Amino acid sequence: MVNQNNENKKVKENWYLPYMDKKTKGIEVEEKESPVAIFYCAGASNVGQSTMLASVEAANRIGYEKASLLCLASISGGLANVTNAAKNAKGIIAVDGCPMQCAQKTLNKSGFTVDKHIIITKDLDVSKNFDLNTKNELGKISEAIEEKVLDFYKEN
Ligand code: SF4
Repeated sequence: MVNQNNENKKVKENWYLPYMDKKTKGIEVEEKESPVAIFYCAGASNVGQSTMLASVEAANRIGYEKASLLCLASISGGLANVTNAAKNAKGIIAVDGCPMQCAQKTLNKSGFTVDKHIIITKDLDVSKNFDLNTKNELGKISEAIEEKVLDFYKEN
């Protein structure tokens, strides 16, 4: 198609994780530029669940060539593929639901520096509760994540 617009060029699959899995196993891949890695706490509260849902929304809008969602639990478990993905990412964003900061602390404990951090209750003024089906403020949260990702592309 000659007039392919930007929307069509966006990568819609979270390709970076399987790509780094292959690289870690020594399987040959076509080299690509690493995206920004987003880790989210995915906690058992409204704001914890929002970290995941809003990260997906943000990456869908930005495109997965620029934003990759990586598994925080794999960092805790010391899995080589996700550890390598984080080490080779363009930058690391941690999205936490509340000031317990589980995502940032998990990453720090494994030796990673978090470049940009969002705490939903504190930075975006969303109250924490334990109704896991409330999806309030997802738009505001995903926009904040999107902004953090795009900052890496403005700075470099
Ligand atoms: S940061 Fe808060 S919401 Fe997220 S996992 Fe930790 S305690 Fe739960």
